[in-house]
Amino acid sequence: MSLPIYLIGARGCGKTTIGQALSQALGYAFRDTDHHLQLTTQRSVAEIVATEGWDSFRARESESLRAVTAPASVIATGGGMVLADVNRHFMREHGQVIWLNAPSDVLADRLERQPEAAQRPTLTGRPIAEEMEDILRERAQLYRQAAHHEVNAMQAPEQVVEHILQSLSLARA
Ligand code: ADP
Ligand code: MG
Repeated sequence: MSLPIYLIGARGCGKTTIGQALSQALGYAFRDTDHHLQLTTQRSVAEIVATEGWDSFRARESESLRAVTAPASVIATGGGMVLADVNRHFMREHGQVIWLNAPSDVLADRLERQPEAAQRPTLTGRPIAEEMEDILRERAQLYRQAAHHEVNAMQAPEQVVEHILQSLSLARA
């Protein structure tokens, strides 16, 4: 059985971009927990947070992690998925966990170039570069704990995919 591959890391690290390319390389399905949440609730992440608050969003995020977990799939997770112990344990037990790691200035730069970045509220309302720095400082340890493998997400997407395949000893389909 092919275990699911979970991609973790902060917003902008490439979970969606790399996840799609990796799933194609392996002939796996691609799932995205944020996308799943939007489909099942018919609301954007920003709307859920605005109407129900972050705690409720986090609970729904945990449910979506379970819902999308299936063999032979690459799963892009929400940036805060690792905050809950239960999510970190679930991912480690059910599949292979890859941390896409990049420095905060690179992440902020990528997000600022995305027009849809405005749809997702920042946690504090401060400039995105400052906030990414705090988020990484706070979460790096959790990403590291959750991950079976850490991959440098500053490389070109093709190379990131190649390194993931190598670290998991998987061949292209
Ligand atoms: P995430 O899903 O982790 O938030 P995305 O896959 O949406 O990240 O990527 C965020 C932005 O960064 C997108 O504009 C994407 O094209 C770009 N990007 C992602 N990975 C890379 C990479 N390895 N090199 C350069 N740009 C990248
Ligand atoms: Mg994404």
